[in-house]
Parts: sequence; C-alpha cells; structure tokens
Amino acid sequence: MKLIVTGGAGFIGSCVIRTLIRTTEISICNVDKLTYAASPEALAEVSGSPRYRFEQLDICDGPGLAALFEREQPDAVMHLAAESHVDRSIDDPAAFIMTNLVGTYALLAASTAYWRGLPDARRASFRFHHVSTDEVYGSLGDVGAFTETTPYAPNSPYSASKAGSDHLARAWFHTYGLPVLVSNCSNNYGPFQFPEKLIPLMILNGIAGRPLPVYGRGLNVRDWLHVEDHARALWQVLTRGRPGESYNIGGNAERRNIDVVHAICDLLDDLVPDPQGSRRRLITHVSDRPGHDLRYAIDASRIRRDLGWSPQETFETGLRATVEWYLANEAWWRPILDRRYAGQRLGLAGAT
Ligand code: NAD
Repeated sequence: MKLIVTGGAGFIGSCVIRTLIRTTEISICNVDKLTYAASPEALAEVSGSPRYRFEQLDICDGPGLAALFEREQPDAVMHLAAESHVDRSIDDPAAFIMTNLVGTYALLAASTAYWRGLPDARRASFRFHHVSTDEVYGSLGDVGAFTETTPYAPNSPYSASKAGSDHLARAWFHTYGLPVLVSNCSNNYGPFQFPEKLIPLMILNGIAGRPLPVYGRGLNVRDWLHVEDHARALWQVLTRGRPGESYNIGGNAERRNIDVVHAICDLLDDLVPDPQGSRRRLITHVSDRPGHDLRYAIDASRIRRDLGWSPQETFETGLRATVEWYLANEAWWRPILDRRYAGQRLGLAGAT
C-alpha cells in the first residue's frame, strides 16, 4: 500500500509515520508545508527508509497536489495537515481558514480527480481519511460524552474551521462517492508535541522554574489520549473503517486542567527535585480564554466495538513517560525555544 500522509512533520502525523514504518510494510509519502509547528527531527528514525519519502507542499496548492497524485499513485490519503493551536486561531484566524478549509477542499478535489481515473478494483479500495478533533462538538456540561451523532457546535475559529472541513469531507462522500472516513479525537499528548500546548508548556516551564500559567481556575476538563494510541486508532480507521462513517477516539481519561498541572509538578518534583520546594508554587492563574469550552469527553464505544481498538496507555503511565521524554530530549526542544519560539507565548498560553 502507498499512503499519502499530510501534515506528517507535525506532532501526530510524525507519530503515525514512525509507527506505520515500524509496524507495517506500507510506503508513505509525507506532504507537509513545514510551518512553525513542523518538526522534521521527529522523522529522523524513518528518514533512511526506502519506504518513506518527503514532499514539501502546501495543501492549498491544487496543481501541486494534482502532480503529486500523478507521481505517487497512492492507495489512500490520511489528512492531518492543519493549523492546530486554539490560541493562535483567536489572534489570527486567517491561516486556519486557509489551511483547514481551503486546503482540505483542495485536497478533496485533487483526491477525487485522481480517484475517478483509477481502475475499478483500486477505485473501490481507495480511502480518504480526514483526521479531526472532538472540539467540533463544542462544550459539554457536567455529564454525558460526545458520540458520533452529537450535533456540531464549534466555539473557536480553530474548531469552526475543523468542523467546516469535516462537513466538506462528509459532502465529498455523499455528493461524489469518494470513500471518506472521518475521525474525531480528544486531546493528545506525548513526545515531540510543540511546546505551546498545555502539557509540554507546563513541563518545560516547570523544568526552568518559570510560572505555570493556568487559564481561569483551571476547572476546564479535557479527555486525554497518548499520541501512540491515537496513531494505532487511525490505522484501524483507515484499514477497517466503513466509508461514510465517523469514529470518535478517546482515552476515557477526563482530567481538569489544574489536576494535569498538579500531576506534572509532582512528577517533576519526583524526577528532578527542586531545592526551592514543590513546583506547584509556580502555578499562576491568568484570565480565561474567550469562548473557552468547559468540558470535552469522548464516547469511544463505536471504535472499540466495531474496530476492536482500545488504548494501551493510562493517563498516569503516559504522562510519566512524557515527562521523562522531555527531560531526556532537551536537544529537541531547546533549539525550538531559542530559534523559533523566541518566548512569544511562553508564560502566556497554557491551554488545549
Ligand atoms: P501540528 O500543528 O503539530 O502539525 C500540523 C502539521 O501540518 C505541521 O507539520 C505543519 O507544517 C503542517 N501544515 C500546516 N499547514 C499546512 C499546509 N497548508 N500544507 C501542508 N502542511 C501544512 O498538529 P497536530 O497536533 O499533529 O494535529 C494533527 C491533526 O490532528 C490536525 O488536523 C488536528 O486538528 C488533529 N487533532 C489534533 C489533536 C491534538 O490534541 N493535537 C487532537 C485531535 C485532532
């Protein structure tokens, strides 16, 4: 099988590529524009593989995509390329509209044109897998969980752009018959996550003894999944999912943000004791983000039942491994903090 992965230099895409090159025989072409969020270093272990190829391309580039499909002759597309950080979408939504909506449209159009020209058997087995988020469903109250039939109610420019892209993918299935799969996953964490997201931000600030900024009182609840469990779920959806269906993916690990930050402080205190005392002293409450959803929770029973997937990490084992990974991989994150990040958001953000 030849798979095109978009956004494969990002946090989740690079994990998918590392996992699939390691555990399957497939060939992968990684299509990525290499934005600020990309990390080619996360692909070092596959870069020498004859089954891996990289193509620097913007998914908004229709002619570029058409030429790529012609050259690569893929059997499937897994689409992860996106602008992904909610705070950035509030400050500057334009890139989110462009990549998440226009880019997804361009990719669907190029895939459909290519797919139509395939011989019957290859046309029947072709798959377009659109990777999305649980944030499209909006905010939950104290009870219940998102199912695949929960109405969409996005509240941020990020989640609205992802919701729109989900609708485009769905429409391409119903209107043109493209064999589309959609998956909506809860918050991921793990190695190589860009240090603007909650967990790596708190780990790196905690290591440096800097303030740990928490929105409001930190009572917002997120459902956490280790990125390697997400990668395994995506492979199940791609290879065993039913075209036209969507699949919710989640780890059944709801935690309040403040509890996540406390857990990180305690793990750091355990692994690298701080002479000044517990890192919980660094927690600083900052004004809440506008439109901040209170609670997300995923009901993942469909993927568990129909595709036999279940997560292998608990939040406790996965978080400890992640803190240990950041402690052992300063060579990866230090240049990002120095070169690309220049402290713009450090100490300000801290949300998911
Ligand atoms: P990320 O920001 O780490 O990586 C995104 C990648 O897409 C980067 O490598 C970037 O260079 C690339 N990219 C951006 N714009 C592009 C364009 N126009 N053309 C080509 N490439 C482009 O994101 P992530 O956290 O790995 O998320 C991947 C996907 O999974 C996204 O679609 C996101 O919405 C979805 N998702 C993320 C989470 C999460 O917790 N991180 C949870 C559920 C779903």
